[in-house]
Amino acid sequence: MNQSQIDQLRAADVAQRGHIIDGKSVPASDGATMDVVSPIDGSVLTQVAKGTATDMQAAIASARAAFEDGRWAGQPPAARKKVLLKWADLIEANALELAVLGVRDNGTEINMAIKAEPGSAAGTIRYYAEALDKLYGEIATTSADVLGLIHKEPVGVVGAIIPWNFPMMIGAWKLGPALAMGNSVVLKPAETASLSLMRMVELALEAGLPEGVLNAVTGEGAVVGEAMGLSMDVDVLVFTGSGGTGRRLMEYSAQSNMKRVYLELGGKSPNIIFADAPNLDEAAKVAAGGIFRNSGQVCIAGSRLLVEEAIHDDFVAAVVKAAEAMPVGNPLDMTTAIGAVNSEVQLAANLGFVETAKSEGGEVITGGERILQDTGGSYMAPTVITGVTQEATLTQKEVFGPVLGVTSFADEAEAVRLANATIYGLSGAVWTSNLSRAHRMVKSVRTGVMHVNTYGGADGTVPLGGVGQSGNGHDKSLHAIEKYVNLKTAWIKL
Ligand code: ADP
Repeated sequence: MNQSQIDQLRAADVAQRGHIIDGKSVPASDGATMDVVSPIDGSVLTQVAKGTATDMQAAIASARAAFEDGRWAGQPPAARKKVLLKWADLIEANALELAVLGVRDNGTEINMAIKAEPGSAAGTIRYYAEALDKLYGEIATTSADVLGLIHKEPVGVVGAIIPWNFPMMIGAWKLGPALAMGNSVVLKPAETASLSLMRMVELALEAGLPEGVLNAVTGEGAVVGEAMGLSMDVDVLVFTGSGGTGRRLMEYSAQSNMKRVYLELGGKSPNIIFADAPNLDEAAKVAAGGIFRNSGQVCIAGSRLLVEEAIHDDFVAAVVKAAEAMPVGNPLDMTTAIGAVNSEVQLAANLGFVETAKSEGGEVITGGERILQDTGGSYMAPTVITGVTQEATLTQKEVFGPVLGVTSFADEAEAVRLANATIYGLSGAVWTSNLSRAHRMVKSVRTGVMHVNTYGGADGTVPLGGVGQSGNGHDKSLHAIEKYVNLKTAWIKL
């Protein structure tokens, strides 16, 4: 990737998009569309179909028909593998086009998007394609006169509701294992980031995925997402997004067919710095990257910095220096370290959190404001706020923006207490040279992922999932497969 290749794509016209149902692009049943606004400059990029409940029901019916006639689930594993591998190849072959389209839609800096979006999506789909014929059922340890077989069957129709921060990466986390196991899927991209994901769905059809096996419906969460949640014909619902929506999905499930619901929700992840960290300068740079990349719109973002008292002031100064050295600007310029906030709504919410933090005694050391307003886009300066108490809103509520709250601690016990003082448990990190302390902290911090002397970067071989109100179930790794299969016992009298 180089700047001139990006420049050739950054202003290309973007065609209007319909849903993808039964392998065809179709408009909304009532013809309605919604504007796709680029957070880079506030311009309208194109329109997508604004789906209705009827559209969602049609997509689910198509997925159900595809599942029941076995056009995908009934194919030999080797055939499914071939299609998925081809899909991964097509994503890679179109990586730059997909990445630029996605960035124009959601504002992530291109350096991150190229790796995290098509790069990671292709890798994820390939991982599950390669795994699908290496997974075996089980034979139970029974007495000699019976045989107990445990089969793993596809669940049927999977509904996947995707957020706007990394649509292709998170989309692939759901689509890869769901399709590998033979399910049909209906996808609901986020309102403000659907373009790259919809293009990725088209590439699946090009790769030979049979029509109806993967359908995608754009539109508002409260309309098409709700229709998916309430459907009697969706067997499993997988979701990444906010806690409020996650709670609704569980309610929809209870009100309808009690479908299984897997939620990857927010976090308020503690990044814990001990004075004996191996390299404090490195820790400060990684801490800044761990909250400010993609404008903090990362579910695992290290949004709470817990610093040992003895080094608090120096460490905060180093983080501030690192933050101020990260250029904020047009996400399609390769020199940009922090791109645009996804939407005006999100930007306003971020600024609201800053005001609340100030009113609760926090001190804004850098940032705290909207910048580059003359571009017409949505940009926010990376923000560091010190003096954040355990009770403060900034400790207890996820911002999902470039806002880092800093709290000091006296000793290991206090660090653990602070780390565990929220309803969340998604990610976290400890920086220390003391091996025993590192292991103690990994054990003591209640979270799904704990980093040691690094932040982020865990690849597809390890699971990602939360505890507490960060959710349930796992994306990535072979553990993700569990969400997309039913266990069936065959008990055979010999
Ligand atoms: P955010 O507030 O950060 O946009 P959401 O949880 O609202 O996070 O969005 C994540 C995904 O959930 C999006 O695809 C959105 O359209 C969808 N969504 C929002 N509200 C609902 C709802 N009531 N039912 C189903 N899906 C929804």
